Amino acid sequence: MKLLVTGAAGFIGSAHVRALLADGGPEAPHVTVLDKLTYAGCRDNLPAGHPRLEFVHGDICDAALVDKLMADTDQVVHFAAESHVDRSIDSAADFVRTNVLGTQTLLDAALRHGVGPFVHVSTDEVYGSIDTGSWPEEHPLSPNSPYSASKASSDLLALAYHRTHGLDVRVTRCSNNYGPRQFPEKVIPLFITNLLDGLTVPLYGEGLNVRDWLHVEDHVHGIELVRTKGRPGEVYNIGGGTELSNRDLTALLLKACGADWDRVEHVPDRKGHDLRYSVDWSKARTELGYRPRHDFTAGLAETVDWYRENRSWWQPLKQRERV
Ligand code: NAD
Repeated sequence: MKLLVTGAAGFIGSAHVRALLADGGPEAPHVTVLDKLTYAGCRDNLPAGHPRLEFVHGDICDAALVDKLMADTDQVVHFAAESHVDRSIDSAADFVRTNVLGTQTLLDAALRHGVGPFVHVSTDEVYGSIDTGSWPEEHPLSPNSPYSASKASSDLLALAYHRTHGLDVRVTRCSNNYGPRQFPEKVIPLFITNLLDGLTVPLYGEGLNVRDWLHVEDHVHGIELVRTKGRPGEVYNIGGGTELSNRDLTALLLKACGADWDRVEHVPDRKGHDLRYSVDWSKARTELGYRPRHDFTAGLAETVDWYRENRSWWQPLKQRERV
C-alpha cells in the first residue's frame, strides 16, 4: 500500500510517519512525504535512508507535481498547512494559498486518480469558541481567526468532495497537540525554551483562555484509527482529555523548569482570541475505540526533558526565526 503524507516534515506529520515506519508489520505502507520545507518544516524530523520512505521537496499547490504523485498513491493523510494563528493575524495570504488552494489541488488529483481514503487533518478551532460543554461533530463551524477560517474552508471543501463526487474523504478535528519537535513558536515549546534560556515568557491577557491538550502520539493513533477503520464522509473529533487555562499551563511549565512567576510577562491579548475550545470525542471512542493513552503530567514532563536534551534541534530554529 502506498501512502502520500503531506506536511510530514512538520510536528504532527513527522510523528505520524515515524510511527508508520516503526511498524514493520505486513500492512505497513510505503510512505511518500510531500513537504515544501517552509520555516516550520525540518527534514531531519524524518529518518534518512529508510527503505519505506521517499521524501519529495515540493508544494501542495503545484498541480503538476501533485498529479504525478497522486497517480502512484493509494491513500492520503493531509497535514500540510500554515499552522500558526499569530502569523495568520499578521498576514493571511499564505494561509489561504496553502490551506485552501493546496487542499483543493490535492482533492482534485485524488479524485482524478481514484485515491482513498483521503484523511484531512483539520482542527477544533474551526468550531469557534464555546463557554461550556463540548462540540459534537455536527456543530456548525464558526471560525474566528484567519488561520481557523482557512482550515474551516479546507475542511468543508474536503467534505464537499465526498458529497459531490463520492471521494472517500475522512476529516479529523483535534485539540491542541503537544510533544517533542513542535516548532518553538507554539506556546508549550516557546515557554519551555525561553525558560531554559533564562528568558521571560509572554502570557496573553489574564491567561484565562482554556485549551484541551492532546499528546501528539495520541493524535497520530487517532488518525490511524480514522484512516483504517473510519467511514467515508465522516468527521471525527480527537481530544486529549486535559483542559487547562493558559495560566494553569504556565504554572506547570514554570514548575517543571524550576522558575517563578517573576519570569511571566503579561502581554496584550491576541486579537479575536477564542476563550475556550472543547471537543466531544465520544464518536471516535465508541466507533473506533479511540482513547488517549498519555497521562498529561507525565507527557509534559517528558516533553520538557526532550527540549532540555535537544537544544541543537530548537536553538538554530529560534535564532533563524527570531522567536
Ligand atoms: P507544522 O507547522 O509543524 O508543520 C506544517 C508542515 O507543512 C511543515 O513541514 C511545512 O513545511 C509544510 N507545508 C506548509 N506549507 C506547505 C505547502 N504549501 N506545501 C507542502 N508542504 C507545506 O504543523 P503541525 O502543528 O504539525 O500541524 C499539522 C496539521 O495539523 C495542520 O494541518 C494543522 O492545521 C493541524 N492541527 C495542528 C494542531 C496543533 O496543535 N499543532 C492542532 C489542530 C490541528
